[in-house]
This record gives sequence, structure tokens and C-alpha cells, in this order.
Amino acid sequence: MRLQGLPQGKTADRKDNHYEVKPAMPNWQDLEFLSTSPICKRCLGRVFGRVGHGLSNNDRGDRMSFALTALGFSPDLKEERECSICHGLFLDLEGLGASIHEALGDYDFSTFLVGSENRVHNPLEKELESRFGMGESIKKEFNREFGKILSGRMQKEVEFKDPEVIVTVNLEYLSYRFWFRSLFIRGRYRKLVRGIPQTRWINFDKHDSVEEIIGIPAQTMVRAENFYLHAAGREDVDVLMLGGGREFVLELSSPHLRNIDLSNLAEKVRKSGAVEIADLEIVGGEMVEKVKNSRHDKSYRALIIAGDPIDPVAFRKAVSELSGKIIYQRTPLRVSGRRADLIRERIVKKADTISIDGTRAVVEMTAEAGTYIKELINGDGGRTDPNLSGLYGSSLKVEELDVLAITEEM
Ligand SMILES: [Zn+2]
Repeated sequence: MRLQGLPQGKTADRKDNHYEVKPAMPNWQDLEFLSTSPICKRCLGRVFGRVGHGLSNNDRGDRMSFALTALGFSPDLKEERECSICHGLFLDLEGLGASIHEALGDYDFSTFLVGSENRVHNPLEKELESRFGMGESIKKEFNREFGKILSGRMQKEVEFKDPEVIVTVNLEYLSYRFWFRSLFIRGRYRKLVRGIPQTRWINFDKHDSVEEIIGIPAQTMVRAENFYLHAAGREDVDVLMLGGGREFVLELSSPHLRNIDLSNLAEKVRKSGAVEIADLEIVGGEMVEKVKNSRHDKSYRALIIAGDPIDPVAFRKAVSELSGKIIYQRTPLRVSGRRADLIRERIVKKADTISIDGTRAVVEMTAEAGTYIKELINGDGGRTDPNLSGLYGSSLKVEELDVLAITEEM
């Protein structure tokens, strides 16, 4: 039977219209195909999910079923459990919600988002999509509907932009996994003892890196899975970090708690006697790259040793010649395995002789970010040019080095 007045023929460019909220222009065969498809009311509604703002897919299914009947078709709607598209996926969302709620019970968070994965390609769904255009995907409906259920049950807000927790449900097995936004703490650290590396060694028994001295108490406080120190540059193991300290962001992954008493953390770190932290605040994850990429001048104090008693006049002259000088540094031999072998241009902004005593002298200098100070003094076999040993005319070595301050660009 053929009804009069029914629009005929498909729109020519249906694929291009996928994203338009526009009723499809299906032909007779398409409507017949739809009426005889073994699907549920919800899935029928979802085919037209982009039409009828404010309607649920069940409402759409009801109306579409009515329309098909009015046009003389006999839609044969299935129960959801029998549906060839959703297979009853939506029937026990409350049960799934209860299980996820329980699994998350131990975690402190206020915002979350539901995602879904592993939806096996469904040929009937694809066929309907090619005939009627893109409706609403089953994933999208699941994420929305299950998000509402979880939100009500857990009393947490759904947040799209930057949720603290993402719940991803596997739509085939109804298994799930969680992702937790890391907690980020920004601050500045001072290193008061020599011989401490900035970051931990994997499989190393001593837990005395700056990263661990700050990270272990913080990890314990929020019951995080792991911790990572992201710092604005690094000092050598044997170099102290003094003055206002070096900026860092401590990342605590998968924390159970999101509130942390920062002054209590600072106090715990201070008790180490090796590291101090200050100016602590909770920040967003975008600060990690900002801090890591920040470039600041650094001021150093170096204790220098010479082979023979130092000639004060010649030494002071050599130091003052470095002040304001552009130097060329080829990647030092001691780090050449880890860094590209390049020649870098750096400016020594300031250099002062503080004291001279026999074969020892103390020098303070401020240099651009990335300047290798030990090599600036010993010359690194000519790889740094000019260098203090060369200007002085005799070999000099750095016995101790401290970072006094990390300053804004001067
Ligand atoms: Zn269905």
C-alpha cells in the first residue's frame, strides 16, 4: 500500500547533513525498514535523537511509533532486553551505579564525568544511520543518562571541562575503570645539604632525593598512588639550593583525598633537615609545563681552589672581566651522554670576588638560565670560552657550589 503525499526519495547529500538538526526525508522503503527492525522504543527514538528538543528518546520512540502507525505501518517494538541494538543496556543502570558508587566510596571528589568505550560495531544501527542520518549515538545517551543516575546517587556534579574523576564504562561487559585528576602543589624548595639528587633514582634504596623528601609525606597525607616533582631546572647533586628556593610543582597521582594541609606538609618536610618548602598552593595541571619551561637567571656562590696560592690582583681582574661577558659553552663532557652536543651562548651578568684566602677564593656570580658554572670556572678543556681559569692564567676548580637565588630576568 502506498500513501499519498508521503515525501519520496532520499536527500542527495544525506551524509553531509549528519550534523544538521533536520528531519530526514526518508522514502517508503526506509520507513518500512524502520517499522520491521527488531528494536526497542528507546532505540527507535534515538534514530531521531537530534529532533525534538527536551524529549527523552523514549518520548521520541512513542511519537515515532504513533506516526508510523498513522501512516499505515505496523511498528513491531521489542522489549529493551530483546532489542537488537541496545540489548537491554539501559535496564539496570541503577545496579551499575550502586556498584560504581561503592567502588568510589573511598575517594574524595566533587566533580566527575561518565565516558564509555568498546561499543562493538552494530550493523543494524549503521544501516538505520545511513537511511535516516545521524541520530544520537548509544554512547552519548548512555553517558548522559548514566551521568544523571550517578550524580543523583553520589551527590556529585557532572563536569565536562575538567572533572576530578572520569568513570569509563565498557558497554559490552559493563566493567568500568576510573581516572583521577592529579593533585598539583606549587611551591619553592631549598636544599640545605649536599649529596641529594633532585629526583629519585629508580631501584635505588636511599630515599633522600628532593622529590622523595617532599613527595613521600605528601603522598601519605592524600593517599596518592604516586608522586612526581616537576621543577624549574635542576641543581647538581652536590650543589645547595639556597635563597628563595627553586620553583616546583609536585604532582600527586590518583589521590584519595583532595584537601591537604599545606603548612603541615611544609613542617613535615622541614623535619628532614635537608629540604625546606615554602609558598605552597594548590594549582591546576597546566602549571607543570609553565614551571618546567620557565627560565630565570641564577645567582651562585662558588668556593674555588687553585693549585698554588692565588694572586689576588690577577684573580680579581679575571673575575671582573667575566662580568657582563658573553660566553660560549659546548655541552660539558660530564653531561654529553644525556644532552645534545651543542654550543650555547650565555651571558654572565655579574661576577664578584667575595674573599681570597691562600689557594681558596669565594666568588659570586649571576648567569643566564642554563649556564654551566663549574665549566665556566674550570674551562672544561676549552669547551667553555672564555672561562675563569683561562682569564686568570692557571687552572681553577670548583670545590663547592650553592645556588643563592633564582631571579626574574634582569
Ligand atoms: Zn534498544
